Amino acid sequence: MLVPMNAAADNGPPRAARRAPERTCAGCGKKGPPVEMLRLVVDPDGAAAPDVAGSSFGRGVHVHPTQPCLDRAARGGVARSVKGKVSLDVGPLADVVHEAALRRAWSLLVGASRARLVKWGARAVEEALAGPPGEGPDAGARRGALLVVASDAARPDATPAFSRAIAEGRAVVLGTKAELGALFRQEEVAFCAVLDHKVSREVHRMCDLAVVSRTWSGSSISRSKEAACRRSPEGR
Ligand SMILES: [Zn+2]
Repeated sequence: MLVPMNAAADNGPPRAARRAPERTCAGCGKKGPPVEMLRLVVDPDGAAAPDVAGSSFGRGVHVHPTQPCLDRAARGGVARSVKGKVSLDVGPLADVVHEAALRRAWSLLVGASRARLVKWGARAVEEALAGPPGEGPDAGARRGALLVVASDAARPDATPAFSRAIAEGRAVVLGTKAELGALFRQEEVAFCAVLDHKVSREVHRMCDLAVVSRTWSGSSISRSKEAACRRSPEGR
């Protein structure tokens, strides 16, 4: 049987040997992988806008998505990085980042479902989380399968595979049962599993960003939205 050369790379976790590029945080000045930071793009007028996907053209500055780092970046860190005047207000930024991260998480999920990389139905999801039979108990985790639970779903930890995914941090809350259902032409779908590790990682990263941006000072995201895109469905 012919197996594509990149099959392993696409299905497995990234190879440890591959060194990720590093960026310097405009807040604390420490270096780290860009996926752990928020990219801001500064336009010629000095306005800083978030680039959650990290791929927009323009002058980019990276910052850890934490209150202390954002405060220091807003007070002058970003301006120093781009050697010019920059206007950055953390409050409005929080709302824009929250919405952008949710939008991107959702569009990644839609794209993955169109590419048939998302499974729904209790048994299919459980199998996706556990991994293919014969590959050992960690196969699902090694393949990066991510559990997506609707914000209005009941008992997301109903099965051992689900509880395990939640305990391992391989679960996010995104969308509603009706919204997830629409992806699969169903009335309601309470949970599904993303099979592709790259998509999983990015959906997870976006959900984390949506969650953390709500905690930044000045965030005006209403409590009614708090259920959406929670990092993990624990404690519900
Ligand atoms: Zn920092």
